[in-house]
Amino acid sequence: MSEINRNKAESGPDDEKTISTRILVGLIVGAIIGLIFNVYFPDAPWTKWIMSNVTAPIGKAFLQSLFMVVVPLVLSSLIVGVANLGTVEHLGRLGTRLGLFYVVTTLMAVMIGQFFINTLQPGAGIPENIRNEAVVAMSEQISGLQEKSAGVNESLWPGIVSTIIPKNIIAELANANMLAVIFVSFLFGIALLTNENKGGTQTVLQFLDAISEACIRIVGWIMKVAPFAVAALMVNAVANFGLEVMGNVGLYIMVVILGYLTHFFVTYSLIVKYVIRIPVIEFYKRILPIVATAFSTSSSSATMPTTMRTLEKRFGVPESITTFSIPLGMTVNMDGTALFEVVAALFVAQVFGIDISLTGQFTLVVLVLLTSIGVAGVPGGSIPILMSAMASLGIPPEGIALVLGVDRLLDMGRTVVNVTGDSTAALYLARVEKIDLERNLEAIK
Ligand code: ASP
Repeated sequence: MSEINRNKAESGPDDEKTISTRILVGLIVGAIIGLIFNVYFPDAPWTKWIMSNVTAPIGKAFLQSLFMVVVPLVLSSLIVGVANLGTVEHLGRLGTRLGLFYVVTTLMAVMIGQFFINTLQPGAGIPENIRNEAVVAMSEQISGLQEKSAGVNESLWPGIVSTIIPKNIIAELANANMLAVIFVSFLFGIALLTNENKGGTQTVLQFLDAISEACIRIVGWIMKVAPFAVAALMVNAVANFGLEVMGNVGLYIMVVILGYLTHFFVTYSLIVKYVIRIPVIEFYKRILPIVATAFSTSSSSATMPTTMRTLEKRFGVPESITTFSIPLGMTVNMDGTALFEVVAALFVAQVFGIDISLTGQFTLVVLVLLTSIGVAGVPGGSIPILMSAMASLGIPPEGIALVLGVDRLLDMGRTVVNVTGDSTAALYLARVEKIDLERNLEAIK
């Protein structure tokens, strides 16, 4: 509806480019400072003071501001996005393509994870005493998680019905239950699309479109301070890494990271080159703000506004596509999470000497595909779901203790993969809808 307005919003392409570079610099500087704190001054009172009184509040302000716009942005833009698709058939066609794209790419991610964990076997050499020590050290955290994970099984079936269809729309919006928000937005979008009263419908859509515009504008302001906030988040994240825990599970970390890198650089490059058909280097260069925000926040939900804005401003993807595919992808499409879940579950099985049969591996794939839909796009969102998947396969869920200590780092990586997957899906849809992406890339330098 107001694509022109959005693209003319307060900052030009040059600004976007500078912001993108600055965010990268912020990320690197923050990581270096965090590393210095971690290695040289781990117990100094002044580092603790800086972390809790300077960097933590800056990072929190950034995260909270992004979360603040997510619900109004999803609700308003998805309703407008769906209603502007013209016909229910068009919506059905796009939805089917997007769904297939999600399933195929997530399956590829899962298979990459399975290949590396089964060939490199990082869990095979871990002695029993280390396993037991980890379980004892993490016992408090685990008992809280076990309660949550017990709820997951119930929430899958038949619980999913009440997770998706809300009894009270306002309550679900207030709790940011994204599956319900998406369902409600689709329903209203379709209702408006098929509404006979065209005048009334236009008024509602204009109103919602203005809200979505305002949200994107707010995100623009937030992005201006993003370099500092990303630096602050990185200082605390890196300073708090428990390097001593890493020794025992070093190979596991390497396997997960290898999986992420393969999916990020190989699978997505192939998709970008052969399916989306734009220059691969340009793709990676232009998604930088998305990658940096995901890496520093570990939350695809907090990254969503940046994802939408970057795809519109740096790739010229029309609002009608971003508003439809990004909120949906952020909620249901999680390649990085699916890859991580398979590796983590099989790693714990290896440590406990549990042989997972071929049928077991297949069940795990199906379970991961289905449950990754229900993972909330927040830091550590997949852990309770992973525990419940492990329990269903007879892998002791308390084994999660082995990987919890290093999960902050791996969460950063899987969130990057998750949001990159959403970005490729939106670009794929733009290609399907015959948007001239090459011309856009030429026009937006
Ligand atoms: N942190 C991830 C995300 O927001 C979810 C997860 O824990 O896997 O995408």
